[in-house]
Amino acid sequence: MATGGGWAPARSVERHGAPRGGGGTRSKSVAPCPRRPSPSPARSRPAPDNGGSADSCRVRVAIRLRPKNSEDLAYGSDFDSCVELQPESKRLKLKKNNWICESYKFDEVFSENASQKRVYEVVAKPVVESVLEGYNGTVMAYGQTGTGKTYTVGRLGKDDPSERGIMVRALEHILSSMSFETDRVAISYLQLYLESVQDLLDPEKTNIPIVEDAKTGEISLPGASIVEIKDLEHVFHLLQIGEANRHAANTKMNTESSRSHAILIIHLQRSSRIKEENSSLSNDTHDIFPDDLPLVLKSKLLIVDLAGSERIDKSGSEGHMIEEAKFINLSLTSLGKCINALAENSPHIPTRDSKLTRILRDSFGGTARTSLVVTIGPSSRHYSETSSTIMFGQRAMKVVNTIKLKEEVDYETLYKKVEREVDQLTSEMERQQKLMKNEKMQLDKKLKESEGSFHDLRMTSNIRIENLEKEKCQLESAVKTLMRDLEEERGQNNLLSEQIAELEKLVNENKQQQLENLSRMKIFTDTTKEHEKEMEELLRQLQEERRCSSSLKDRMSVLQQELCDAQSSTQLQESMAHELEKKLTKVTEEFTSQEVIYEELKSTQEKVQQEMLHRQGLEDQILRLKWSTSDICAEESKTSYGMVRSGSGLGNAAFVSKSGKIREALSGQRGTISKIFEEVGLPNVLALLKSEDLDVQIHAVKVVANLAAEDINQERIVEEGGLDALLSLLETSENTTIHRVTAGAVANLAMNGSNQGVIMNKGGARLLANVASKTEDPQTLRLVAGAIANLCGNEKLHLMLKRDGGIKALLGMVRSGHAEVIAQIARGIANFAKCESRVISQGHRKGRSLLIEDGVLTWMVANSTRFSHSTTRHIELAFCHLAQNEDNTCDIIASGGIKELLRISRESPRDDARNLAKMALDSNPAFLREVQ
Ligand code: ADP
Ligand code: MG
Repeated sequence: MATGGGWAPARSVERHGAPRGGGGTRSKSVAPCPRRPSPSPARSRPAPDNGGSADSCRVRVAIRLRPKNSEDLAYGSDFDSCVELQPESKRLKLKKNNWICESYKFDEVFSENASQKRVYEVVAKPVVESVLEGYNGTVMAYGQTGTGKTYTVGRLGKDDPSERGIMVRALEHILSSMSFETDRVAISYLQLYLESVQDLLDPEKTNIPIVEDAKTGEISLPGASIVEIKDLEHVFHLLQIGEANRHAANTKMNTESSRSHAILIIHLQRSSRIKEENSSLSNDTHDIFPDDLPLVLKSKLLIVDLAGSERIDKSGSEGHMIEEAKFINLSLTSLGKCINALAENSPHIPTRDSKLTRILRDSFGGTARTSLVVTIGPSSRHYSETSSTIMFGQRAMKVVNTIKLKEEVDYETLYKKVEREVDQLTSEMERQQKLMKNEKMQLDKKLKESEGSFHDLRMTSNIRIENLEKEKCQLESAVKTLMRDLEEERGQNNLLSEQIAELEKLVNENKQQQLENLSRMKIFTDTTKEHEKEMEELLRQLQEERRCSSSLKDRMSVLQQELCDAQSSTQLQESMAHELEKKLTKVTEEFTSQEVIYEELKSTQEKVQQEMLHRQGLEDQILRLKWSTSDICAEESKTSYGMVRSGSGLGNAAFVSKSGKIREALSGQRGTISKIFEEVGLPNVLALLKSEDLDVQIHAVKVVANLAAEDINQERIVEEGGLDALLSLLETSENTTIHRVTAGAVANLAMNGSNQGVIMNKGGARLLANVASKTEDPQTLRLVAGAIANLCGNEKLHLMLKRDGGIKALLGMVRSGHAEVIAQIARGIANFAKCESRVISQGHRKGRSLLIEDGVLTWMVANSTRFSHSTTRHIELAFCHLAQNEDNTCDIIASGGIKELLRISRESPRDDARNLAKMALDSNPAFLREVQ
């Protein structure tokens, strides 16, 4: 028996309570599945167990004894209390009379002093708690009119809380236990009278139908008001309305409240999340109900204030029609029958017999937890009613319910939740769509840009490819052209190679020819040189011959004078005279022969002059040849030096000629002198040098000079004191002839290397310089210059030579301007410079040239090209040797020698001079700077 509120579409889940107790339960009535097949999986757990026994789901029944009222007290002496309570044993003794007494056990026995609170806590509270957990529940008051049913159940106690009955307390309890955020509580308040259901909250609603769900068997009253409760004040208000309406209705119908049943239906809906750790839900359940699925527990609590249980005929309402009386009692009678049937485990429960039993279908033999409070009065006047009431209670105690938990999916919440989620998802989707749209737009934009840039790139690439192809074509044609050119060049190269080979061949031949030419040239040069030498010698000899002829004339006169002197000399001198006569005779003879020689000389002279002309031509030719050829005899300088030395032509020795006639003449003369020398002896001859007779002295010097021309005599003459005598003459004599011939003799002696040192040591240089300074005779000067020039060839004597004024004297003789004198001066300077250069290059001496101080350099620079070729060559050579010494650099530059060096390096006919000049210019940075 149950009612259906129909608050929300629900899918129920049933919870089965503990198994039915042994008190004869009807399996049919308690097995919900066949009647109410549930589409949802169910979970079950034990129902709250207040008794701790197996009959925890038995209808629990308590007896409440009303205190004696005035009526009871009025009948007090006649009718004692027929009820005796034994609360400690929860028993009640009902005394029929003094000897009949029956004892009944109940779940609880409340005496007349039992408070409303205790009654609520014992009877209703467990049911309310069960309802709060989701089970259906029923609390019902049964009893005779006036025994306190309404007092127990419906008393409002608005002002006095202790007076509050079960309805108020239950709602109070529920309101304090539920959450207004998730839970909802509502009530319907109905009255059943004469099998008609009336809405006490909306009295216009009468005859409210009772509807039973065909599938679930659930009972609902679709027309009844369901008012949601917010607070206790609202409860009072609604209950007051209900009470007022009940009273008004009864008054209107002319009934008594005790004849109607008041039914308060409390609808409770609580949210339930299946999250408990101790949840006994099966895995299947978890599969079907996800954790976040909103579930609700829907439960109903029926609080029923039944009509009085007394019989009608005893109720004092005799005015009712019998039929009406039948209807008045029908529901209660039917309830009794159902309880009886349930208690007796009858196969048929006449639930459908009345509206009350239909409404209470779930309360007895159903799934609700049910408590019954049976109210009785103490007076024995109502023994019979009290007894039947007690028996009803006793039977009701036997009814066992199978309580079930009904849990439903909260589709409303679920719908809201899903709706909210759908809204969120929709807005999220819209956001995403917008983002995607934006992204798509950006991507489209980028794509367009990319396409544009790709197009540009392709265009650029195409242009570049075209250009490259053009370049490639150009390059290919260029390569072809180049290859063609290369081929042509290769051909030309081959031709050239052939030509080169031919040329090389020609060059080789030319070289061969050149070599041959060179060798021929060399031979020719050598021959020319020899010719030159011979020419020089001849020239010199010619001049000497001239001088000799004049001197011979002088000698002739001298000899004639001597002869005269000899004839007139003393006897002591006769022998000498005799000798001299002999000499004279010989000399005369010689003279005669000399005359012949003179003639020969004349013709020779002519020949020489012709030869000179010839030689001049040859020289020019040679020069031209020299200039035209690059090869030069490397040994020329040596030869030149040799020429200086050997070709000194000093004194009478210079007359040693290769010319046949002169050579013969000279050898004849020398032979004569040698004969005189042999006969007289060197000491005698040398003694004559000291003769007081000038002529004798002159002749003696001449003889010595001639002797000194021979190499073999040179050292001996010095050893025998000839040098001393000669130097003494140079020093003391004032005679120019003496000076001249003595100088010639000294010059000849100075040809000998060992004599040179002796000459210097004996002051020869100083004496020669002295002579040079006194005379202007070119022959004397030539001989003095020749002597000094010979000394210049000995580098060991250079310092002494300079100290003794030899260099100064040499240069001083330039004043004569005579070519032969200057030739000797140049030879001497060249000798000096060459030897000095050698000494300096060998590291034996340092410093600037000794020649410079005496002005030789300046003279050379100024006069290098003024004289004959051979003199010029000597000067050039000397200058080039000076230029090799770096210590002379400043002087050379100061004297303007650079120009001269350059000239020599370019124009000099002598290779050695040119090479030396170039070497000096190239190796000396100062010269290089000057040149630039
Ligand atoms: P019923 O509803 O059963 O007809 P009521 O509840 O109307 O009886 O009670 C009848 C009278 O008895 C009332 O005046 C009530 O106040 C009083 N009464 C009933 N039970 C008690 C009780 N336990 N204590 C005090 N007064 C009671
Ligand atoms: Mg009443």
